[in-house]
Order: sequence, then C-alpha cells, then structure tokens
Amino acid sequence: MSAKIIDGKSLSLKIKEELKREVQDLKNKGINPTLAVVLVGDNKASQKYVSFKEKACKELDIQSLVFRFPEDTEEISLIKVIDELNENSQVNGILIQLPLPKHLDQNRVLERINPLKDVDGFTPFCLGRLLTDNPLYIPCTPKGVIRMLDEYGINLEGKQAVVIGRSIIVGKPLSLLLLKRNATVTICHSKSVNLPDITKKADILCIAIGKENFINSNMIKEGAVIIDIGINVTNSGKVVGDVNFEEVRKKASYITPVPGGVGPMTIAMLMENTLYAAKLQHKVLK
Ligand code: NDP
Repeated sequence: MSAKIIDGKSLSLKIKEELKREVQDLKNKGINPTLAVVLVGDNKASQKYVSFKEKACKELDIQSLVFRFPEDTEEISLIKVIDELNENSQVNGILIQLPLPKHLDQNRVLERINPLKDVDGFTPFCLGRLLTDNPLYIPCTPKGVIRMLDEYGINLEGKQAVVIGRSIIVGKPLSLLLLKRNATVTICHSKSVNLPDITKKADILCIAIGKENFINSNMIKEGAVIIDIGINVTNSGKVVGDVNFEEVRKKASYITPVPGGVGPMTIAMLMENTLYAAKLQHKVLK
C-alpha cells in the first residue's frame, strides 16, 4: 500500500481563493479586514512564521500590522500595546506570536487580548468556548487538520484517534475537535509509557511534538491516517515533520507531508478567522 497524500498546500490555495473574494465583498461594504501581529524577540522560526502570515494577508488583500519588540521588552509595555489594539476599532484580529521570551508570562499576556479579536483562539475565553462545544475562534492548526480530514472524506466517528502532544496550541484543542466528531481520543505526552502500544491502535494518528523521525512504520497500524504536525529543521537545513515519511507512507492509507501539509492550512485558517473577526465586529455575519 502507498498512502494517499493529503495535500494541504493545494487545499489552502483553494480556501484562500474563496477568502480573497470575501475580502473584496467586505471592502465593497467599506470594511477593511485588519490583522495585528505582535512579535517579541528575535526567534528565527517566529520571524519566519510572521513573514508567512504577512505574505498571506497581502495575497488576500487583508491589512496586516506587524509590531516588533526587542527580546527584553517588559510585560507592562506589551500589555499596553495589547490594550491599545483591543481599543483600536480598525484592528479586527490580534495575534501574539508564540513562544514569548521566558521572562514574560504567556498566560497573562494572552488573557489580555479581547476574546472578540482572539483570532488564534488561545485566550481562556475562546478555549472555554471550545470546551463547551460553542466555539468562537478555533485555534488555526487544529481547525486546519479537521478541514483536511473532511476534505478527504475521512470519517472520524467511532474511530480510535491518538494525539501526541498536549499544548494549548495544537494537542489539546485538536483532541477536543476529534472528540466533538465522535472519535475515541487518547492524548499522549512526554510521560506516556509504551507509546508504540498506543499508537499501533490508532486509526487516526496526529503528532505534534517537534521531534524528527519520531514515528516509524513499526509504531503505526496498517491503513492508519497519519497527520504530521511537527516542524523540524534538519542539520542540512531541510524542513521535516515528526514522522519518517518515506517509511510510514508505505503502510498508512493517508498521510500529510511536511512541508505542504498542515503548515499552509494553519495560515489559511488564520486568514479565515481574521475574516470572521471582521464580519463579527461589523455585524455582517449571515
Ligand atoms: P510544545 O513544545 O508546546 O508541545 C510539545 C508536546 O510534545 C508536549 O505536550 C510534550 O509533552 C510532547 N512531547 C515532547 N516529547 C515527547 C515524546 N518524546 N513523546 C511524547 N510526547 C512528547 O509544542 P507545540 O504543540 O507548540 O508544537 C509541536 C510541534 O508542532 C512543533 O514541531 C511545532 O513546530 C509544530 N507546529 C506546527 C504547526 C503547523 O502549522 N504545522 C503549528 C504549531 C506547531 P509534555 O507536555 O509532557 O512536555
């Protein structure tokens, strides 16, 4: 068997084309969707992700405002910026690029975002809404994963879904979304024991830990759906996921590549959430 590739890149292009038309519709109504991105410090990966987000905004004609701050920025200054963005009616979405430098309290900073502008869906309010099956903004990466599974007609009901990783960015919200779709969900993390015993039972295996080649073909079930969320840069500078792609694709039924899988979908979902924010704030939701 050779797995079918879940092509996140082309799906994201299709979604962005639709969103581009919606942006023009909003502009015709005098609404100018705007995303504010806050980047603290000089983490190279974060800088790259912010540039991808800026590029996507440009493609869709969404206004992006990027606020860059030095590594040693004090929390009080950052909070002040967030307060100003909350108050600014021109700004529809606010995104704080994570991770923040260690001296900043990530929870306190995220909590400060007005939930109506929390397009990443990481505030306690948005995560709580997700937990109570009444989402406002769904975190972009998990939302993108579910959209890909839907697009490829992969049924989740009654399936064994295993998620490796329990961050609020990926693992936890993804587990809730899979649960909502009636999968039986197991969440694994760095303290889980006998991981292969668990992963080998998975019909759907989602992995987001940031460890190159972590999943090999001995750890999966024949015909499993493999969603590789990890992003790692090898010593030779190549971008790879958490799965040994060449080996695992021979045994899986579907697999996401890295790059070209979950990554572009994350950006497309951010654009979708930003448009939703603009519509919500201008009361033009259907
Ligand atoms: P975090 O570092 O916040 O979380 C990593 C998780 O992996 C933790 O829950 C940790 O467990 C778990 N973990 C680490 N080592 C192991 C192990 N050996 N066995 C089992 N579990 C382990 O990372 P993120 O969730 O932010 O990101 C995870 C990966 O996904 C990264 O590679 C990141 O770059 C990528 N990513 C990709 C995105 C995309 O768009 N494709 C978007 C966001 C992230 P514990 O909780 O016990 O520490």
